[in-house]
Amino acid sequence: MASPRRWLRKRRIVLIGLLLSVIVALKYSIRMNHNELSRELPDALLRLHHPHDPNVKLVSALMNLTDPGVGGAGLFLDVRKLPKEEAEKFQRSLEQWEYSTYTSSLVPLQRSLPDIRLKGCHSLYTDLNLPETSVVIIFHNEHWSVLLRTIHSIMNNTSPHLIKEIILVDDASTDEVLKGPLEEYVSRFSKVQLLRAESRQGLIRARMIGFEQSTAPVVVFMDAHCECFPGWLEPLVTRIAENQSIITTPNLHGINSKSFKIEDWGNGKNLEIPVLTFPNLFFAWTKMSEVEWKKRQRETDPVRSPAMVGCVIAVNRNWFKKLGMFDPGLEIWGGENTELSVKTWLCGGGLEIIPCSNVAHMYHPHRPSKESDIRYKRNIARVSNVWLDKYKHFTDNYDGSIVDYGDISKRIALRDSLQCHQFEFYLTHVYPDQFIPGNGIYTGPIRNVEVCNHCLDPGGKRNGDSVNVLLYTCHGEGNQRWDFTEHHEVRRGGLCLDSGYGSNVMMENCHGQRGNQEWEVVSLNGHVFLRSNGYCVGVTKNKSALVLELCHNSALLQWTWKEHRKPLIS
Ligand code: UDP
Ligand code: MN
Repeated sequence: MASPRRWLRKRRIVLIGLLLSVIVALKYSIRMNHNELSRELPDALLRLHHPHDPNVKLVSALMNLTDPGVGGAGLFLDVRKLPKEEAEKFQRSLEQWEYSTYTSSLVPLQRSLPDIRLKGCHSLYTDLNLPETSVVIIFHNEHWSVLLRTIHSIMNNTSPHLIKEIILVDDASTDEVLKGPLEEYVSRFSKVQLLRAESRQGLIRARMIGFEQSTAPVVVFMDAHCECFPGWLEPLVTRIAENQSIITTPNLHGINSKSFKIEDWGNGKNLEIPVLTFPNLFFAWTKMSEVEWKKRQRETDPVRSPAMVGCVIAVNRNWFKKLGMFDPGLEIWGGENTELSVKTWLCGGGLEIIPCSNVAHMYHPHRPSKESDIRYKRNIARVSNVWLDKYKHFTDNYDGSIVDYGDISKRIALRDSLQCHQFEFYLTHVYPDQFIPGNGIYTGPIRNVEVCNHCLDPGGKRNGDSVNVLLYTCHGEGNQRWDFTEHHEVRRGGLCLDSGYGSNVMMENCHGQRGNQEWEVVSLNGHVFLRSNGYCVGVTKNKSALVLELCHNSALLQWTWKEHRKPLIS
């Protein structure tokens, strides 16, 4: 017979073994909960290919595709090597969807992304008693592979006990695959609900349909083309649990709309914040100011954010309600992110980026149209006429009469009842570096005369503390909306062209001290030169960087601005 001590030891070993297997089983069952689905698609979906989806078997064999997109890698298809029919489908998919659904269909619906959390994040977020979250995902004709990858990535990267429900709102999609087949696909997930809007509501009202249906204390609004990194949700919710009137957003990264490569946009000193741009009330990425950086103790600390992109937002349900949710008078797309940012700041709350939370979002080009332009202007006219006080004159609708922005009396009553600050408070306490353009400056995209379909574009590539600028196909959107200011800055958002890099010209946070950032532009067409020494801005032959050189008449040194800003009415 074993001695009592040995027996005890044996028993301890057995107990520890049992405990370990229970833990493993629990973990496994949690994973099983999330991975109820295999990678295989149900038959119905397999049969319902879009006409321009790839012939997966053929392309996989031809291109030798093993684990495409794994770990967030891009799938760069050499279209020249595709058979003609497939190459045409690739092209058509890009044209119809504004992103490569062809490529997306070749990337598995479930792929894991690397853990890119900053050092220190793991030990910060260990609270198991966080409030539950409802995730609201709305979509209008989103390609099913992109939508489903979003849903899987939430389930695979979140502790199940934190997610109460995932509510999908179909904003009147016409794509057949998003009807019966999608319903069938998600029906096996007990936590996923699918709602249908009766008619097209636009993203603002569609999100509110999802919100009304949701029940958890925290709600995350997420676009239907995102992928979450491990541990993305806890940091967002933890901050809201500490202070319910803080709206949180993750550190955003990119999903390349052609290759589906996950682009890591950096963190720590390289983290950028969205700031409001005038006159279009859009946002521009800008470096955090030194002042803000120094206010924080650790790089994992939340970052105050003047504005938001709007693609992933976490908010306490009561705070969102108190703030009057989104303005239901905003149509289809745009303005709601600005409204929410400004009102949370003015009405006693705040907005923060939580560096330990990482989510990738696919930025896709929006096909510009006259109709969407008018709608967007109308939306921002509503927002500025409710929230910007005298600064409403600095938006596109500076005289408040260009478009009929509808009845805003309820929104003004809301602002009054919440006793929110004046917009001035935003400029003094929230973001003192806010740039508001004045009269008589040049504005819009800056075209190079030699390569006339190419515009100045801060390509986003960081080089130490500065941001590289290059020539990129003109699209005239966010990154390409420049201002030449009364202070002689060539500016986009909070970043200015800066000559302090030897013969290179880069972008730096605007410092308002002139010197390296003091330029001269004398007409809509011509040179852009440094005031201190008269040297001109040119571009390297490969178009990948700007240089400062002796002025001459080469077209490479000539730039065309879109327009002269009209005088403002105050
Ligand atoms: N969306 C929608 N109805 C619309 C327009 C957009 O449901 O009328 C959805 C769209 O599918 C996406 C989200 O709203 O999930 C945000 O739109 P989008 O991604 O185009 O905006 P962006 O991120 O480019 O600003
Ligand atoms: Mn989006």
